[in-house]
Amino acid sequence: MNRVSVDTAGRPPSVDALARELAIRHSLPHAILVDCARRAIAENSVSNVQQQADQLATEFSQTLLRDVINATGVLLHTNLGRAPIEIHTSDRASNLELNMLTGERGSRQDTVGKLLALLCGAESAIVVNNNAAAVLLVVAALANSRDVAVSRGESVEIGGNFRIPEVTEQSGARLVDVGTTNRTRLRDYKKAIEKRGNDIALVLKVHPSNYRVSGFVEDTPMRELATLSVPVVADIGSGLIDNTCPWLDGRAPSWLANEPAARQTLSDGAALVMFSGDKLFGGPQSGIIAGRADLVDACAQHPLARALRPGSLTMLSLQSLALAYLRRTATSEIAFWKMATTSVFDLKTRAESIITESGVGEVCELESIPGAGSAPGATIASVGVVIAGDHLKKLRGHQVPIIARVKDAKTYFDLRTVRKQDDHLLVDALRDISG
Ligand SMILES: *Cc1c(COP(=O)(O)O)cnc(C)c1O
Repeated sequence: MNRVSVDTAGRPPSVDALARELAIRHSLPHAILVDCARRAIAENSVSNVQQQADQLATEFSQTLLRDVINATGVLLHTNLGRAPIEIHTSDRASNLELNMLTGERGSRQDTVGKLLALLCGAESAIVVNNNAAAVLLVVAALANSRDVAVSRGESVEIGGNFRIPEVTEQSGARLVDVGTTNRTRLRDYKKAIEKRGNDIALVLKVHPSNYRVSGFVEDTPMRELATLSVPVVADIGSGLIDNTCPWLDGRAPSWLANEPAARQTLSDGAALVMFSGDKLFGGPQSGIIAGRADLVDACAQHPLARALRPGSLTMLSLQSLALAYLRRTATSEIAFWKMATTSVFDLKTRAESIITESGVGEVCELESIPGAGSAPGATIASVGVVIAGDHLKKLRGHQVPIIARVKDAKTYFDLRTVRKQDDHLLVDALRDISG
């Protein structure tokens, strides 16, 4: 190890020599190893320069995007990319914007939009990069230089700086506050519309995804809002397609009870719904706008639509998910629904065999949560493995890093969010910790 770190005169090694030496243990590109070597030499005394360079290279490798095992029990973990997805593709070209029937230029939105519209019971649908973009585009396309009425109780901030007043302002519309923080009734909206005449272009209803207000609260249901004289558009956030969950043989899980769904919000009279593709829909990062064809079309024609359009990987992934929902094979084909519907009995059996094989840990009952602001407060019964001590750092250092949870100086592995095929990696990790 000392071969390059100190020469006989006690001088630090050359950057190049150190980088070449690092290449023996690290498969990173030369340019990155040179950077590690340079930083180690700059930062360090002569004696441990090589050790420091090694550590920098190891740390860099750890930060590269890669698969991890989500053992947190948070099904849609924003730090872990929300919904896990599997993408099948090749390095062939695709017909992304080729109309296969005419051979002429087509739209990437047509087929996927049709499938999504069918799923939601909408006339039409388009896809943008995320739900924040969907709301931005809807307000920009339908309310530019005009007013958007939003209940004071729904003028919210949702994770990662998505703030309704700011998004509205960026869209070129003016926000009109309606009602009060805890109660907003139909007559409050009516009053605002009467007072401002034709200025109000839209009513925007926002699902307060990541928090719950309780006590003396009242909001106006979509069915009542739909009687207003202006279109009502709804940011439902989480992207539950249909609250009867036909892909689960109609057995909607109880933890979804308070989530608004696209199909029901539209049938209650919303002109448009906007939602994330990577929450309860279980897909890639994307935002979906579905509803009245004339309004969807106005969004699609707006110049911002070009800037917010997703790439072919996103469209391909959404297409296979939409087909899985329509075929009702979601529980075998969509990772999110697989996680969400695994029985507690199966989880317990897996926990027991992990413990038997590794020789450490105990079975524990846990509560998973949907995550990403979906169904706040709701929990899903789960089972995991618990061991004494905080092992998070070590677990993150594994070849396939394992992200677990620590509480009261114990490390918990919630099996609901772990693929069954990855159980052997938990066994290895547990053996490693105990050994
Ligand atoms: C999550 C969420 C958003 C933001 O969606 P992104 O897809 O992360 O941009 C906006 N509104 C609501 C109600 C949400 O739940």
